[in-house]
Amino acid sequence: MTEKENVRTRFAPSPTGFLHVGGARTALFSWLYARHCGGKFILRIEDTDQVRSTEESTKAILDALTWLGLHWDEGPFFQAQHVDIHRQMVQRLLDEGKAYCCVCTPEELEDKRKKALAEGRKPKYDGTCREKKLPRSAYAVVRFRCPDTGVTVVNDLIKGRITFNNEELDDLVIERSDGYPTYNFAVVVDDAQMEMTHVIRGDDHLNNTPRQILLYKALGYDVPQFAHVSMIMGSDKTRLSKRHGATSVMAYKEMGYLPEAVVNYLVRLGWSYGDQEIFSLDELIRTFTLESVGKSAAIFNPEKLLWLNQHYIKECDSKRLVQETTPFWQELGVDTSNHDLLKRVADDLKTRSKTLAELADASLFYFADDIVYEKEAADKFLNKGIVDHLAAIAEGLPSLEDFTKKGMENFLRTIAGERGVSLKVIAQPLRVALTGKTVSPGVDEVMLTLGKERVIKRIRKAIAFINSRS
Ligand code: GLU
Repeated sequence: MTEKENVRTRFAPSPTGFLHVGGARTALFSWLYARHCGGKFILRIEDTDQVRSTEESTKAILDALTWLGLHWDEGPFFQAQHVDIHRQMVQRLLDEGKAYCCVCTPEELEDKRKKALAEGRKPKYDGTCREKKLPRSAYAVVRFRCPDTGVTVVNDLIKGRITFNNEELDDLVIERSDGYPTYNFAVVVDDAQMEMTHVIRGDDHLNNTPRQILLYKALGYDVPQFAHVSMIMGSDKTRLSKRHGATSVMAYKEMGYLPEAVVNYLVRLGWSYGDQEIFSLDELIRTFTLESVGKSAAIFNPEKLLWLNQHYIKECDSKRLVQETTPFWQELGVDTSNHDLLKRVADDLKTRSKTLAELADASLFYFADDIVYEKEAADKFLNKGIVDHLAAIAEGLPSLEDFTKKGMENFLRTIAGERGVSLKVIAQPLRVALTGKTVSPGVDEVMLTLGKERVIKRIRKAIAFINSRS
């Protein structure tokens, strides 16, 4: 096995809400790097915060990752199930004098913090309990004894080399008084136990990394490589939030986005390969490297995501497009049992839909023959002068043999020619008669999809409508 094949990356979400686009992008980078190297991608749910973690969130996160196609090779592991190991490791550090119990109360700590701030000092735990050799108890937290001098260097694969002065780092709490480990401790023990080679995560954790490196060393573990991915910002350069559009990955599913569009969009938030915009998953796996991830924050651009979605809908195989659109049709009350019709409808609309919801919405006229005409369209195009032309189409259609796009075009042209008008004169009223609207796929396509019988029925209905108005 080569060194690359040993690569193990992970995604370690806290189950305290839905999967945010930022989290999804981190997961994607981590997944892609593992796939690129032929390594393994591991999913670990960090649920040690008993109050904020919920099963619904865990499910929502797993569903979103599955929808995006980010399949994990191992897990999901649940951090709360490893608490015994965390406690053992805490004990080891206590036994080795690398950690100590602390009984300072939150009020005392807060007072000291305020005092430090008032005196212009950086607040930091003052070491009151360091030498007391207190026992582990229901009142005590456990703190890691951080070195007072020296530096800790993070050689980040994205951000480069960053040096932290140890004196700036606090004696951080590694176990709370409820016996649960804190994030910084649990993450180190778990990443080491699960033999992670690369920790890829958001740069909001960058300041935790020197603390974690010190813990790795204290516990005698190999330190993994780190890669901190920059934040995603809205167009106003503030941290991405609801104000900038939906931030939950699954909200995009519900709005009718295809997962490949979301993946393609997310990967380009911070990563590039020349000026290429469209990537298949295989291409991404082949070309993705951490070295090409940018250092600076990426700007979320909903229009670009929409553009990509339109691209992928256009490229989507009809059978799958039907499958993906079915929930949207059902939501609109469309009977989805006639697959053949659905496939033709999807084919007609795939080049003109930005989302699946839009496709479903624009397709409603195909399903109900009882067309409701848009008022303006009817006023402008459904009038007396067109009745005979429409009637000629309805009469000629049953004997049309070449029921293809080409045949339909010829048929309409011949009728227009025979009646001494241009095709345009009959095409738009015909469109309104068949769809109720002035914008739709080509009339020939619509006619083919509806079939002769339904076209004739709709033409007759339009004629009756015109006659009833005069
Ligand atoms: N549970 C942490 C989070 O969701 C994980 C951070 C990490 O990847 O180390 O922010």
